Amino acid sequence: MIILTESQFNEIVDHAKKQLPNEDCGLLGGIIDENKKIVKKIYFLTNIDKSPEHFSMDAKEQFSAIKDMRSNNFILLGNFHSHPNSPSRMSEEDKRLAFDKKLSYLILSLAENEPILKSFKIDENKQVEQEELQIK
Ligand SMILES: [Zn+2]
Repeated sequence: MIILTESQFNEIVDHAKKQLPNEDCGLLGGIIDENKKIVKKIYFLTNIDKSPEHFSMDAKEQFSAIKDMRSNNFILLGNFHSHPNSPSRMSEEDKRLAFDKKLSYLILSLAENEPILKSFKIDENKQVEQEELQIK
């Protein structure tokens, strides 16, 4: 399970809307309490692809985000990206790029009137499973 605050959720939605028509992307830093992942900080990164259909995170920004997590005693819990025009599910490309079964892969869909955020996990055989996500 992964837990975000309502203001973190709003932050992601607002930021993703500002990147339209392109996909937004970023990393989630936080802590693990028992088996709950608690997001403490969102790192918005530049989508260097500047595309509505795919994303690549700026490598330098990724590096400094990880550094900042270390200095705060956070760990990398996962990442997120937006789907401006498609549902919140992992595309074939998203699966291909997913590399770590410990990470949560959050996808925010802006295709409907209401933003929809879901979290996924993927195993080494590229089997995707939805992860419980709580906003509170
Ligand atoms: Zn995607």
